[in-house]
Amino acid sequence: MSDGFLPYGRQWIDDADIEAVTTCLKSDYLTTGPAVSAFERAFATVVQAPHAVSCHSATAGLHLAYDALGLGPGQCAIVPAITFVATANAARYCGADVIVCDVDPDNGLMTPDTLSEALKQLEGRPGLVAPVHLAGVPCDMPALAALARAHGLSVVEDASHAVGSLDEAGSPTGACPHSDAAVFSFHPVKTLACGEGGMVTTRDAALAERMALARSHGIVREADRFERSARADEPWWYEMQALGWNYRMPDINAALGLSQLNKLELFASRRRQLARAYDDLLEGQGAHLAPSAGRAGVDPCRHLYNIRIDFQALGKPRAQVMTELREQGIGTQVHYIPVHQHPYYVRLNGERTLPGAEHHYARTLSLPLYPMMADEDPERVVSALKVVLGL
Ligand SMILES: *Cc1c(COP(=O)(O)O)cnc(C)c1O
Repeated sequence: MSDGFLPYGRQWIDDADIEAVTTCLKSDYLTTGPAVSAFERAFATVVQAPHAVSCHSATAGLHLAYDALGLGPGQCAIVPAITFVATANAARYCGADVIVCDVDPDNGLMTPDTLSEALKQLEGRPGLVAPVHLAGVPCDMPALAALARAHGLSVVEDASHAVGSLDEAGSPTGACPHSDAAVFSFHPVKTLACGEGGMVTTRDAALAERMALARSHGIVREADRFERSARADEPWWYEMQALGWNYRMPDINAALGLSQLNKLELFASRRRQLARAYDDLLEGQGAHLAPSAGRAGVDPCRHLYNIRIDFQALGKPRAQVMTELREQGIGTQVHYIPVHQHPYYVRLNGERTLPGAEHHYARTLSLPLYPMMADEDPERVVSALKVVLGL
């Protein structure tokens, strides 16, 4: 058992990763080079998607996907209340409205029922739905996508938490059997670390091409793709064909990502093992403390181990619980403050009440979960938690 500090999440960087980055630094390419294409190809294979477009972050990836699907002013993105704000913000970058959708109070996921309710605010606008696989638990994509399609909406999965997860049909998150695209994050706290990094996977070749163009200023350099014919006296000619951004992933980050991807199976099995240990320890602890909630039929690779505590019934505020756990060397975090409660979205959409999201937010607490934790650490965490909660 480790007696050092256990943060709620932490990257695993080994000598192979360091060597991969060092090799890249000694090469000719620091930004888009061979590591970027190799990482894209390898990632596409792992998640069983025909196309993968790397980018600077998941935030950039969400923006690229929404933009390439045509999201714009007068349109609408429906996002769950329990997510990192980037899922919603990317729609605002496109000038679109945001409808914040309620979630299942236990697992924090958008459901067919909560989406149906949110769709009542659509008022005929085109746009998209962006379900979030919170903590790595895949949403009910067949049902959510069917509802979205019936309203003419596109579907983008925010899969930032869900690399390595399997849906009810056993297909990996990112394969996009029901969605237009899935977006991944390689922020160090997520399952794979690039420093900063993101990836968008899709089955749609044209969509992948639009995203690849937009991530580098909308600039085309291949003569056979020019709209204006190339002239012999302008060998430097390149064309900007659409408005884009600099959302490129540096080769340094891709070299790290590719090396991390080699460890995905190890990371995923370790996360599943540790989550099972927590599940067993937290089962049957009474009405006020419950393990992380999953969803029937899916096999999550958990990014977070978000348990549920009825702090009110136990008579101890969450901040106090977190402080006392910290004093025992255990880091915890709250995922997430509901999107609709942030002042920016209150100004935009007015005060809203979403009972499922508020219930989830009141109870959630993320315990330490990362592959390098020792086998005995979940027991150390749960024992300390029970003492702090007086259970
Ligand atoms: C981390 C995260 C993002 C943003 O990822 P970055 O790579 O940091 O831009 C978006 N959505 C969710 C659900 C996340 O957890």
